[in-house]
Amino acid sequence: MNFHVLTLFPEMILQGLNTSIIGRAMAKGIITLEAVNIRDYTIDKHKKVDDYPYGGGAGMLMQAQPVFDAWKAVVDQISLRGRSKQKPRVIYVTPQGERFHQSMAKDFAKEDDLIFLCGHYEGIDERVLEEIVTDYVSIGDYVLTGGELPAMVMVDAIARMVPGVLSNKASGETESFSNYLLEYPQYSRPEVWHEKKVPQVLLSGDHKKIEEWRLEQSLSRTKEKRNDLYEKWVEENQEYFIKKAKREERQRKKELKKRSTAKSEQLVK
Ligand code: SAM
Repeated sequence: MNFHVLTLFPEMILQGLNTSIIGRAMAKGIITLEAVNIRDYTIDKHKKVDDYPYGGGAGMLMQAQPVFDAWKAVVDQISLRGRSKQKPRVIYVTPQGERFHQSMAKDFAKEDDLIFLCGHYEGIDERVLEEIVTDYVSIGDYVLTGGELPAMVMVDAIARMVPGVLSNKASGETESFSNYLLEYPQYSRPEVWHEKKVPQVLLSGDHKKIEEWRLEQSLSRTKEKRNDLYEKWVEENQEYFIKKAKREERQRKKELKKRSTAKSEQLVK
């Protein structure tokens, strides 16, 4: 998968993503990352890329021309390489966009090429956004000085979903938000730390029991911290509660039977 980031600060993108898991995925060629300097495409002789907004107001706006030409150069280069017949999706990172979440990351990870557009100052001239942007995405309800950090956040989350980037395929599928649920608590060595013991079930070697425990933990954690997600899970997993109720009923009957047998044995004695 190929990421192309249109930005006024390419070094920030390249330095920010060049380490650890994402850095290794780039070194192996599983993903590529290109940071395109929008300033290189301005036709202004002073290399200016911003100007005052019409109608007044605070701050400066990024102009349409350099953004459009930078985007066009990337799109032309992608189609020259014959990688995609369709124009790649262009994500404008903006506080006004849809809130970024895990299922979006999974969806974007299916693309061959993705273009990110990072705004700066007060944003970008609306006319170029109308022409090139396919997705408006925000990382949260707060305003940052530029789109570089949001683009890095999204590239990181999307790249993790590209096959081969995570060494353990399962970890991308079982962790928080993979199916609305937050991940269960995890423990590593030593077995006792600050007098706190690792839950016994995790040492039992009984994989079925461990799986059940983890699901229970995920459910109670999600219910407590993110009830909105919990309710979505409940809506889609009614059969879990039906099975659970049946299991508990079987267990209750078994207990009752055990107790009444013990009672009759005592009477006989
Ligand atoms: N004037 C804009 C507004 O009120 O919507 C905010 C501009 S902000 C200072 C500059 C740039 O930072 C934006 O164009 C956008 O690319 C980026 N940005 C800021 N906050 C963001 C967020 N929460 N999510 C995604 N991008 C953000």
